[in-house]
Amino acid sequence: MAMTTAWLVLAVGDARQHGGNDGYDDNPSEHYSWDSTVPNSGQIAAGDVIAVWNKQELIGVSVIEDIETGQAEKARYSCPQCSRADFKRRTRLTPAWRCSQCGALFDEPVQRIEPVTTYRSLHAAQWKDGRGTLTGRQLRALCDSPNSQLSMRPARWEKLRAALEEASGPGWPAPGETGHGAWRPVRGGHRIVRTRTRNGQQDFRTQLLSEQGQNCALSGPAPAAVLDAAHLYGYAEAEEHFEHGGLLLRSDLHRLFDRGQIGIRPDTGLIDVDASLHGYPLYEQLHGRAPHARLRPEHRSWLAAHWHEHRS
Ligand SMILES: [Zn+2]
Repeated sequence: MAMTTAWLVLAVGDARQHGGNDGYDDNPSEHYSWDSTVPNSGQIAAGDVIAVWNKQELIGVSVIEDIETGQAEKARYSCPQCSRADFKRRTRLTPAWRCSQCGALFDEPVQRIEPVTTYRSLHAAQWKDGRGTLTGRQLRALCDSPNSQLSMRPARWEKLRAALEEASGPGWPAPGETGHGAWRPVRGGHRIVRTRTRNGQQDFRTQLLSEQGQNCALSGPAPAAVLDAAHLYGYAEAEEHFEHGGLLLRSDLHRLFDRGQIGIRPDTGLIDVDASLHGYPLYEQLHGRAPHARLRPEHRSWLAAHWHEHRS
């Protein structure tokens, strides 16, 4: 009998957020986004098993019903000396970045905008929560290459399922028994909406609130209840070591920002409100204003990538 491929995919908080035009991967039980810059990006297919983890443990498992594809532009970053994308931010030293490959020290990585294919798996129907079953260490050992550092790692589902059954009994998704195509339709049909807070998301917001106070980065003072931790990352290569990739945004502005209707012009550094929102005084008054927050160079890079994706 043919083995079923399972993909262990990393949902680790911030760096995996904002994967394209469809907004956040805030619900790992329903969808997962990636793009063509990720190794194995084109290998994953409907009918495969998806196992989402967060480095500490398994979050859950499902069978991929469908994969949506699209096109986007993405900012990619590289070392100015060797052009590779393997560098780390130094928290207390300047220059702020050090290349792990060639040792170069630099203030800013080289940024370039490239077209990418975006992918989004839909897998709500057979989702089964996996918290408390397998640890990160056990999951790593179950992959085809236990030492892999990739964000999408192949494994054999039969092997993974045997470990899950041993840990917590039967009832894990069985792609072979159900058959591809037999799942409930997700697109256009009724969707089961579950709310599950991403690991790390709450910490990220708490951190931003302590750094930035009860202030929307664009519009200024606002009560914490309406402030979202907005991730700026997804427009760039998903590297976990990017810091300062988040801003507090008022929830309505956050939504409009995600749609590209509000952005920061890279040439002026000022808020730009799309013409579609002119006529709404609440938003129109922000047009041409300086953002409330003092933006760091990292924020500016991310915001420029956002601008290029949506407006140019
Ligand atoms: Zn280098």
